[in-house]
Amino acid sequence: MIIDAHTHLWQRDMLPEKYWINAAWMMSQFIPGDMSIDVILKSDAMQKYMDGSAERLLAEMEEASIDKAIVFGTDWGLALGEPKIPVDDLNKFIADNAKEYSDKFIPFFTIDPRRPNAAILFETALTKWEMKGLKLHPTTGYYPDGEECYKLFEIADKYQVPVITHTGYLTGLKGRTASIEYFDAPTTDFPKIKFSFAHLSFGKIEDLIGIITMKPNIYCDISAHGQLLITNSPSDFYRQLRFIMNHQLVSNKVMFGSDWPATSSLMTLSKWVGTIKDLDNPKISEVLDKFGYKKFRNKDIKQVLGLNATKFLGS
Ligand SMILES: [Zn+2]
Repeated sequence: MIIDAHTHLWQRDMLPEKYWINAAWMMSQFIPGDMSIDVILKSDAMQKYMDGSAERLLAEMEEASIDKAIVFGTDWGLALGEPKIPVDDLNKFIADNAKEYSDKFIPFFTIDPRRPNAAILFETALTKWEMKGLKLHPTTGYYPDGEECYKLFEIADKYQVPVITHTGYLTGLKGRTASIEYFDAPTTDFPKIKFSFAHLSFGKIEDLIGIITMKPNIYCDISAHGQLLITNSPSDFYRQLRFIMNHQLVSNKVMFGSDWPATSSLMTLSKWVGTIKDLDNPKISEVLDKFGYKKFRNKDIKQVLGLNATKFLGS
């Protein structure tokens, strides 16, 4: 069983236009020459980024032999300006797609906890829309250990559903409030909620090892940071993943994730799954040996690709 623990379903108008402009600006940094933001917004890479349709995700999952994906939107309206399609409709879009493809998608609700009635909307999503968890993106500037967020955790605790949070920086948004340290209190105060820190906290591996070792309710996913690292510096990806998996109480908490379609221009889901399946390749073992690290075994690969996510989802 292969599970992608971090994917998005969305269309351009479901996110603030400012986010797309920021993303295009970011992409312009990688392109030689002087291309205008308008031209980049129309590029193939940006069009793929914006096209988070269920059908496209399903086709890529099929090609990559991914059995199930956790799907969610994102709520950046309070920080970047409201998108044309409000977040309530985005959440409903996620729930409806998950209902249609219930054997493939596991829908998580997303909201900025500062919105009026956030907790009531979350509870409705769990009870009426059959959503299965909560996705947070504290980069809009709220505090994960603040009163508003605690109201959401109380609902997650009541229904015993997991919480995924973005960790790390993001262009045009605020990474400090999405640091691991702001989850110290919630992960202690709600020991029965399973939390996942996304994107391997963009390389803060030692911090992750520290907190996951001490708190058995914390997981993490390798999305986005993983594809960026394997593209830029493969040995560092092997080293970082091996480093975290070397720790007995952490190796069963690391989950495969893609951040699709945000990472579509880096690599296909099939290539990303293939990268993980290939971790026990003798050439990679040789690289790890140079760092004094042991090699990846088939058991590690199975844990990352699905076994750990199965536990996170409580099944
Ligand atoms: Zn994401």
